[in-house]
Amino acid sequence: MANSGQKVVLITGCSSGIGLRIAVMLAKDEKKRYHVIATMRDLKKKDKLVEAAGDAYDKTLTLLPLDVCSDESVKQCINNVKDRHIDILINNAGVGLLGPVESISIEDMKRVFETNFFGVVRMIKEVMPDMKKRRSGHIVVMSSVMGLQGVVFNDVYTASKFAMEGFCESMAVQLMKFNVRLSMIEPGPVHTEFETKMMADVAKMEYPGADADTVRYFKDVYLPSSIDIFESMGQTPEDIAKCTKKVIE
Ligand code: NDP
Repeated sequence: MANSGQKVVLITGCSSGIGLRIAVMLAKDEKKRYHVIATMRDLKKKDKLVEAAGDAYDKTLTLLPLDVCSDESVKQCINNVKDRHIDILINNAGVGLLGPVESISIEDMKRVFETNFFGVVRMIKEVMPDMKKRRSGHIVVMSSVMGLQGVVFNDVYTASKFAMEGFCESMAVQLMKFNVRLSMIEPGPVHTEFETKMMADVAKMEYPGADADTVRYFKDVYLPSSIDIFESMGQTPEDIAKCTKKVIE
């Protein structure tokens, strides 16, 4: 558990990508300023994180299960934190969704909102009372450049990040009075499993309901150019972890 003087940082979605890198970077902080509670919905996926954390594992980094889509899981996770005391909450867990809107089921759209919007709301609701009581705390939210600007064929993902940004901007004003900070990070493309997972979903897509021109535009124009953008401009998860560390320092 955390030593006195160490800040307790809880991070969501640490099985891969940006969350994993933030967890490792903070746990390996040279001044040992942080005790990281790295969470993931399936602890069977912990090996990559444990390996990257090395000596920090079980010292400045501990693991807890957490599915941000489940009220029960969120409550249980926070109850498992000593005195429910969290200094810094990093809402990182998120899912993407790509394709012509006609071909995407409402069910899949709800899953994106459950994670990217309600997942953040659930976490903030749960940690906020203690932070307000202590008049101290910092909530960080991993948004996206798509939380600021709509992008073709990312309609639902963009909407989920816009919704989350609206919620957080409004919450930030309320929390400020209690000395609780709320910060948003808005990365452009980042090379993580996010991209791989979306491309795997796209490969299985059958395009029900979409007209031939839209499908052609999506497959022949949008996808190749988006891959080019990722390849030429994509940042690394370490870049975003460094930025997050600066934000909380
Ligand atoms: P990854 O897919 O590598 O990581 C996403 C993480 O979120 C995984 O650990 C995943 O866990 C977790 N997650 C998904 N659903 C849940 C859930 N219900 N409960 C708990 N954890 C969950 O992608 P990134 O690291 O790139 O994404 C991290 C954040 O950064 C996301 O919010 C994303 O929107 C944002 N972002 C990413 C960009 C990019 O280009 N990669 C650009 C801008 C923003 P599991 O392994 O169980 O699926």
